Amino acid sequence: MKRMFIAGQWVAAHDERSLPVHDPCDGAEFERIPRGGAADVDAAVAAARAALAGPWGRMTATERGRVLMRISKGIADDAEALAQIEARDTGKPLATARNDIAVLARYFEFYAGAADKVHGQTIPFAAGHQVLLLREPLGVTAHIVPWNYPAQMLGRTVAPALAMGNAAVLKPAEDTPLSALRVAEIAQAAGLPDGAFNVVTGLGEEAGAALAGHPGIDFVSFTGSREAGAAVQSAAARNAVKCVLELGGKSPQIVFADADLDRALPIVLRAIVQNAGQTCTAGSRLLVQQPIYEAFVGRVADGFARLAAGTPAMDLDCGPLMNTPQQRRVQGYIDRARAGGVAVLAEGRIADGVAASGHWVKPTLFGPVPREHALATEEVFGPVLAAMPFDDEADAVALANATEYGLLAAVWTDSGGRQLRMAKALKVGQVFVNGYGAGGGVELPFGGTKRSGHGREKGLLALEEMSNCKTVVLYHG
Ligand code: NAD
Repeated sequence: MKRMFIAGQWVAAHDERSLPVHDPCDGAEFERIPRGGAADVDAAVAAARAALAGPWGRMTATERGRVLMRISKGIADDAEALAQIEARDTGKPLATARNDIAVLARYFEFYAGAADKVHGQTIPFAAGHQVLLLREPLGVTAHIVPWNYPAQMLGRTVAPALAMGNAAVLKPAEDTPLSALRVAEIAQAAGLPDGAFNVVTGLGEEAGAALAGHPGIDFVSFTGSREAGAAVQSAAARNAVKCVLELGGKSPQIVFADADLDRALPIVLRAIVQNAGQTCTAGSRLLVQQPIYEAFVGRVADGFARLAAGTPAMDLDCGPLMNTPQQRRVQGYIDRARAGGVAVLAEGRIADGVAASGHWVKPTLFGPVPREHALATEEVFGPVLAAMPFDDEADAVALANATEYGLLAAVWTDSGGRQLRMAKALKVGQVFVNGYGAGGGVELPFGGTKRSGHGREKGLLALEEMSNCKTVVLYHG
């Protein structure tokens, strides 16, 4: 039985309740965590508030950066153990989990370096005056993260908050709480003062809701589903608290006839099968220009037929889905599309020897998918790719923008003018040209447009999101 981390102490839930943690590869319970509730969230928020009034709040930016750098080093030193924890918790291939931990360490490294580079400004003003813009921490920041990339999400949202001098309370997903608890241990050993970082484990509708609506928080960052995001934003609104929402996506890969198809092919495959498609930035729509549609989609189909899902130790292309509801949801999309007559162009396989009780789904390529079909417009959050032909640039833009989401897009073309025209016309938060970096690049500001959310994390912009600008007007005569 694990304990959670509040005020530098390892504690059970106030009422001693607990929750199981299941292995997605066989559905079996292998650990228990505290089922935190409102009283535990109260304690964590109070601890964070106290940290701001204590040694953490008094630390210089340079000292904070040094603590974050030690956390990064601690993560790197513990990388293999953390990767094993992450792989067990999520079912993802070990190679993917190892990469996730490298990215987690990189987040702390990046924001360690940034901590004392956040400088204010001065503004020319009336005679005899000087105006200063000060960047200050928001205070207590709340962070609610999903189960698909638990370690990466922690780094993405908590590292910039700490770099700015906030005190953080993290609510990991109930399915995947274990890497966060290990990182808390590492942070404590690295000298992070008590209360600066707290982890409350528990259910979304209990611990998560209590945290999002807590009157003692000053900011909430939420990554997850649209439904829970709406609940979090409403709770934040009641306290007039700033809220960053990172929700889903239906990201297009747009392949023009003049593209370097040899370069595009492996990246298109990886962008959907990575993490079994449970990636908000998964490249889940493949839009291909008419003259090369048959040939290129045929090559993608050959690649799909070679994909395989297996356990972390098998280290294949992907693992199982996270839990039973998720598996049923994704399999439901596949079954309904098949029954409705959408052609399956290829499917991958589930490796021999895996437990039948695991949450397995075969990677599946559909095409051509009708433009109004659910597979073309809704987020499946599984290894399912929808191929669709388009005519010309205008048609590609219309099709790419024809969902409620707007997170990421990739454009594959050798035409320089078209690269920039497409990048400008796409209603998304990030555009890749002749590449695709689902989740990559801690330096790159990231976030949604439309129903994919609002606010930006990653890069230096995250430091603006997680700070206040104070305007000081001085009259000196
Ligand atoms: P989810 O919304 O069910 O859960 C996410 C987190 O929110 C969990 O920690 C959960 O406990 C918590 N939560 C749930 N209900 C809550 C409530 N009422 N109040 C407060 N917290 C609550 O999402 P999920 O199923 O874990 O993740 C899948 C979804 O997340 C997908 O839609 C995916 O697109 C999205 N996602 C988005 C990004 C991004 O960066 N845009 C990244 C990863 C996942």
